[in-house]
Amino acid sequence: MKIICIGRNYSEHIKELGNDPNAEPVFFMKPDTALLPNRNHPVFYPDFTSNLHYEGELVFRISRLGKFIEPQFAHLYIDAVGFGIDFTARDLQQECMAKGLPWEMAKSFDFSAPVDGFRPLSDFPDLNNISFELKLNGMTVQFGNSRDMIFDIRRIIGHVSKYVTLRTGDLIFTGTPKGVGPVQKGDILEGFLEGISSIKVQVK
Ligand code: MG
Repeated sequence: MKIICIGRNYSEHIKELGNDPNAEPVFFMKPDTALLPNRNHPVFYPDFTSNLHYEGELVFRISRLGKFIEPQFAHLYIDAVGFGIDFTARDLQQECMAKGLPWEMAKSFDFSAPVDGFRPLSDFPDLNNISFELKLNGMTVQFGNSRDMIFDIRRIIGHVSKYVTLRTGDLIFTGTPKGVGPVQKGDILEGFLEGISSIKVQVK
């Protein structure tokens, strides 16, 4: 399976990183080794960064094989929604971007994509109105809603599947709203989907 991540999909977050607000969302991938082996596994703070950031995101799970998917049929290709954290070595990412280089080493390292709390699509009657929230040590740091995405999930699936065949079990991280920030060893991140605790991760 593969993990496809959308970047720059919320305008307020684009502004906080100083990116061009008129640019279209980008996508990149993480390998399956970015997942946690189980839900109690911590995220180890990598020694190659001194600015590890969380990015809380809605995650959609692909349920069937698809290529060139029309956006109006895209909902037929997903079966569940979960909460993911797109961990990012922000210092490395900024170095890569400054050099015009790919940013995999800043985004795709081991345990950089914890995801949990999948619930069936039937729990979410309106895909463009799903609220989510991320707490850091019990304090809310991010609050988002899928209605604020620049590319909604149907357009994301239409766009990505032009380039990459989607397969059952693939995951799509849909981008983060404003409020990203650094974590320290010992921090606890907890993500909520529509008010329900969906993921809990410790940084070690
Ligand atoms: Mg992200």
